[in-house]
Amino acid sequence: MTMKRVLSVASECVPLVKTGGLADVVGALPGALAGQGWEMRVVLPAYRALRPLCADWPEVFARDDLFGGRGVVKAGEVDGIAVLLLDAPHLYDREGGPYNSGGADWPDNPQRFAALSWVAAEIARHGLVDGWRPQVLHAHDWQAGFAPAYLAFGGPRDVATVITIHNIAFQGWAEASMLSTLRLPAHEFHAASLEYYGGLSSLKAGMVTADRITTVSPRYAEELMRPEFGMGLQGIVAARAAEVQGILNGVDESVWSPEAEAVPYTATRIRGKAANRAALCTEFGLEEVPGPLAIVVSRLTDQKGMDLLPEVLPEFIGAGGGLVMLGSGDPALEAAMLDLAARFPGRVGVRIGYDEALSHRMFAGGDAVLVPSRFEPCGLTQMYGLRYGTIPVVAAVGGLADTVITANPAALAAGTATGIIFHPTDATAFAGALRQLAALHADAKLWAQIRRRAMAQPVGWAASAAAYARLYDGILRP
Ligand code: ADP
Repeated sequence: MTMKRVLSVASECVPLVKTGGLADVVGALPGALAGQGWEMRVVLPAYRALRPLCADWPEVFARDDLFGGRGVVKAGEVDGIAVLLLDAPHLYDREGGPYNSGGADWPDNPQRFAALSWVAAEIARHGLVDGWRPQVLHAHDWQAGFAPAYLAFGGPRDVATVITIHNIAFQGWAEASMLSTLRLPAHEFHAASLEYYGGLSSLKAGMVTADRITTVSPRYAEELMRPEFGMGLQGIVAARAAEVQGILNGVDESVWSPEAEAVPYTATRIRGKAANRAALCTEFGLEEVPGPLAIVVSRLTDQKGMDLLPEVLPEFIGAGGGLVMLGSGDPALEAAMLDLAARFPGRVGVRIGYDEALSHRMFAGGDAVLVPSRFEPCGLTQMYGLRYGTIPVVAAVGGLADTVITANPAALAAGTATGIIFHPTDATAFAGALRQLAALHADAKLWAQIRRRAMAQPVGWAASAAAYARLYDGILRP
């Protein structure tokens, strides 16, 4: 079978660099698409930490005029992923995160990611030295938003383009005065094209120029047409509704598998989960938790709704529940979480930080995972929860609503429930969901049924990869 070719353009990719779910998706797609007849290569910046990795990789593409210096693309393979690293030291070889240092965004972020996008568009037009040239360019989020725009504005093209919105809250803002610096045509600076509230948004640029727009769940695709969720871009999404599609993310089932945890278990041999639970309680210094042991693994930001926990937790603890939480982010929220641990010693344990291994132990040992987001494009932790029989308790937004079947009377009667969905995202509804959680947990037979059903839900990449492949096939240019 000759493989069709797609270039994925992104700022993060597991296992190389990750700040959020975007990286998981970008890292998982190449493997998932290979089985669908698509060879995906991923281009991303060679941040400082990645430069040693690609030091000896062959150069496959170069440009001397890359926004103030030379940029060289090097090709290699990492965990089976064909990776193209854009080495441009003047843009990426610096201390700090991909987007900021010490909390402040790099002032030249517009140029840094315009450069990535420019190189991707150039590769799409001219190909690599080995002759490889994509038929589809797949841009991810604001960091890659200019790539479809450069292709669209650069004359006739035979490469089709897709942009995926992983989170519309990040829009890639730049001053209007940057237009020519960013190599964008002045005549496109109007409301129907590049102009955005008097300036520029690389995300909008991608959304108005790409052949298709996708986002990471069907529900989020609908939500994005409304002002509460579209965050200024709802008009663009609505205007292009016919070309907008929601495709759920999957999870890597080999990495997220209860059979691979300290005490392995499966849906039919569930006994090991209790041992993981006991170990988790010990690790967090919890005493006996008679009710459900809830877990939270999350960035601590306003989006995630963690500010509701102090309001709802006392009743939940009073009903026998416990909580272990792992997260980092907003200092005020970090302090609030530590305060909860201090108020409920033996029942609430909190770790501030980022720790993937610990997150695995938490999913293996928890009874339920709480995801009270105000908005959630897709969300991954509720899907880990399904796979681990760690019942998701989620807000009725985005991918959370698309992946969980709530335990209402009809679903319980039919035996289809996999979790609890509450609406709206506020303390009253959240508290109600936790009350229901405690009640379900107390009914051993019902609990076992929900857990079995949750663990049987498909959360892998198969369906999503097939959907992306169909999308690419549908936009191929002759
Ligand atoms: P978002 O991308 O908005 O943060 P997602 O649910 O899509 O939310 O993805 C978050 C990913 O990051 C998941 O894989 C989750 O397990 C992981 N994660 C978040 N916070 C932590 C943490 N403190 N420690 C370990 N993993 C974390």
